[in-house]
Amino acid sequence: MSLDATKPIAQERPLVSIVIPMLNERNGLRPLFDRVAQAIKDTPVEWELVIVDDGSTDGSRDVIAKELSRFSRWRLVFLSRNFGQQPAYRAGLEYARGDAVIFLDADLQDPPELIPELLAKWREGYKVVTGSRTGREEHGLRRLLFDSFHQLFHRMTGRVMPIDSGMFSLVDRVVVNQLLAARETNLFLPALKCWYGFSQTTISYARKDRAVGEPKQSFRKLFRYAFDGLFSFSDLPLQWIAVVGAVISVISFGYAGFLILVRLLQLAGYLASLDVKGFTTLAVAIFCLSGIQLLSLGIVGQYLARIYREIKSRPLYVVETVLTSDEPRRIQESRPG
Ligand code: UDP
Ligand code: MG
Repeated sequence: MSLDATKPIAQERPLVSIVIPMLNERNGLRPLFDRVAQAIKDTPVEWELVIVDDGSTDGSRDVIAKELSRFSRWRLVFLSRNFGQQPAYRAGLEYARGDAVIFLDADLQDPPELIPELLAKWREGYKVVTGSRTGREEHGLRRLLFDSFHQLFHRMTGRVMPIDSGMFSLVDRVVVNQLLAARETNLFLPALKCWYGFSQTTISYARKDRAVGEPKQSFRKLFRYAFDGLFSFSDLPLQWIAVVGAVISVISFGYAGFLILVRLLQLAGYLASLDVKGFTTLAVAIFCLSGIQLLSLGIVGQYLARIYREIKSRPLYVVETVLTSDEPRRIQESRPG
């Protein structure tokens, strides 16, 4: 028996699933499927496409199945409404049957042409192959926020996931099963898929701008996604609050002691009585301390809200219908994920 954690895949023609979540990506369907079909054409594995429609309202619902028919194996999962990118990926995982799963956004920011490279690393024996970005084409505020988040996340969580990486990756079935067993509501799959360990590697690529359409992750969704990542992988903010509280307490006790001493000396006649001054000091102290207290309360609240969401254990998504290339072709169901 080999003890090597990166034992190469021996199976003759394993099945690999490509999971793609979509929200209103109608105009990008054709180029996406063209490029995916081209990328997987001469690879030595069987392919399955798992498309998750996350409550699209642009008419793409009616055309995805038609576009998909050029692939021999596919599953098309319609969610009952828009649940968000992470729940959509999680729904895709549930329906993927592959020995490995590739996560791919629909907007072609992560080039499908790299799929053979992900596959080659998996066949070498790696269980998690993550795309690490050497650059980005995004600009402006979005770019600034992405860069700041990745720096902050890396500093706060250490080496949970490769810096500047996201969903674009391949995970082996052993990791897929772990992800399916996790019942986290505040999902942050980019880091969670790496958290389990196993043998991991990266491939480098430059992230493009969106091929068509507007980003579907609005700023509100991106902020929530970022906070889910930070708060579910680090409790440093709670420690910061404790440290700030301790420092302020030490300073306050020291200052209180000093004031008491001055007062005693005045009473004993060693010091002359001073006019009451210090309104500015008082006002600044009150404002600053109130700000720090509210901020601390907000941070605690972020954790509390997430605990609340976790204990409610609502489903992450609800599946409305599933279409498949198998026989019988249609699985009609409505069930929680
Ligand atoms: N997406 C989704 N549901 C959402 C938001 C986005 O399924 O609520 C999909 C979207 O169609 C795309 C992928 O998730 O395939 C990434 O979204 P986007 O490109 O907007 O995000 P970003 O590139 O900013 O991470
Ligand atoms: Mg994108």
